[in-house]
Amino acid sequence: MSIEYIFPEFEVVRRPDRCITCRVCERQCANEVHRYDETSGTMISDESKCVDCMRCVSLCPTHALKIVKSDCTFRDNANWQNDTIKEIHKQANSGGVLLSSMGNPKPLPVYWDKILINASQVTNPPIDPLREPMETRVFLGKKPKKVALDSNGKIKCDLPPQLELSMPVMFSAMSYGSISYNAHASLARAASKLGIFYNTGEGGLHEDFYCYGDNTIVQVASGRFGVHEKYLSAGAAIEIKMGQGAKPGIGGHLPGTKIVGDVSRTRMIPEGSDAISPAPHHDIYSIEDLRQLVFSLKEATEYKKPVIVKVAAVHNIAAIASGIARSGADIIAIDGFRGGTGAAPTRTRDNVGIPIELALAAVDQRLREEGIRGDVSLVVGGSIRSASDVVKAIALGADACYIATAAVLALGCHLCRNCQSGKCNWGIASQRPDLVKRLNPEIGTERLINLMTAWNHEIKELMGGMGINSIEALCGNRLMLRGVGLNEKELKILGISHAGE
Ligand code: SF4
Ligand code: SF4
Repeated sequence: MSIEYIFPEFEVVRRPDRCITCRVCERQCANEVHRYDETSGTMISDESKCVDCMRCVSLCPTHALKIVKSDCTFRDNANWQNDTIKEIHKQANSGGVLLSSMGNPKPLPVYWDKILINASQVTNPPIDPLREPMETRVFLGKKPKKVALDSNGKIKCDLPPQLELSMPVMFSAMSYGSISYNAHASLARAASKLGIFYNTGEGGLHEDFYCYGDNTIVQVASGRFGVHEKYLSAGAAIEIKMGQGAKPGIGGHLPGTKIVGDVSRTRMIPEGSDAISPAPHHDIYSIEDLRQLVFSLKEATEYKKPVIVKVAAVHNIAAIASGIARSGADIIAIDGFRGGTGAAPTRTRDNVGIPIELALAAVDQRLREEGIRGDVSLVVGGSIRSASDVVKAIALGADACYIATAAVLALGCHLCRNCQSGKCNWGIASQRPDLVKRLNPEIGTERLINLMTAWNHEIKELMGGMGINSIEALCGNRLMLRGVGLNEKELKILGISHAGE
């Protein structure tokens, strides 16, 4: 028997002078917070179910609603904080592992906010991006170490397969199943129109999206859900997922309640069965094993597609990346500890992994020291929030960035952090048909294109301010960065000077 000792986290404040009992909030809330009370003729709320997704607030026609954080909390102190006490009560009730979604919310350092960008003054003048050409195109894949000439003295142009991006940002892996059909449709269409890429995640590729293959990265994860020859051939690149920033060291878990209809067909698993991908790939226990899979995938696709290996940012990431670069992979994707997720054990999400900024700097430095930086491109994700984060990441050594949380925010996500429930009121992280249809894929596509267009303008402005006119000239150019409030060790790992130096 469980006893509920947990106070509601939010209060629903409804102004009676404005409420016209239209019951919109009742219809819009998948969590069943609002209800019309026949006896009193008024709306009442069950606040214990509220997740602060803001759907009711946004759609109330008379602006009668407000959701506020409740100040009714446990008696906390510096050691036993409210959330910690609440989690103990939850586990005492359920006996289960705590699950969370989206990225790590703990107040750990965000290094992007402690790094500042340079600007030209007097000498080496800035470039005006409105009047001068600026190159934001990026090619991802192996690059030759030097220019080679053929027997006729002409430059050899036969490069290994590359991904061409119109700007250095791609949509990161989000599986069909963890997000809805309409969310996937929005990402696929936007990537195709923008000339960038989106990523299937580990859920396979719905047959309706094969037409976006030229802008699709197909993922092969440890569960191998939805992986077959046609799938591998459909994408422009193949990503082997070894790890994910939000849950390094463990596999994935999509609850059976989300494995319905097309999701079950696309994943090639029975309806209602939990999709649990194992922590390791059961055929990979060494770099040699990884190399076998890299080349099996290249063989299966006639060496026409770059292979990406995605790992979580963990303690020994520089050595791990060095091994991956030697495995034959064309691109390494590194996911930092703030990376988002549809569902992850709370303890893992909040305590495992390292910041992407430090991981990226360490990897770029190591690959350069070993003379193999050109053997792979580096893509980083896990808390890229703005164009300035992108610029800082590229100056630290990345060739491009992955974004996911920013992309779902553009689709209407209000960061209620409740994706694991499957009841996303904004139609993004849900498979319930009545909720999925709330996200119009045409509007979703347009909003993603708007976001990326805005970021691309900002990237050009920041580059122009530095007097740099191409992403290639910015890549690894750490002289353009300065740290503020960082200690010697942090500056050394980041490979940047302190502001004022
Ligand atoms: S949506 Fe607004 S006006 Fe309509 S019932 Fe709810 S609180 Fe009242
Ligand atoms: S995707 Fe939906 S459920 Fe997940 S955080 Fe955003 S609004 Fe909440």
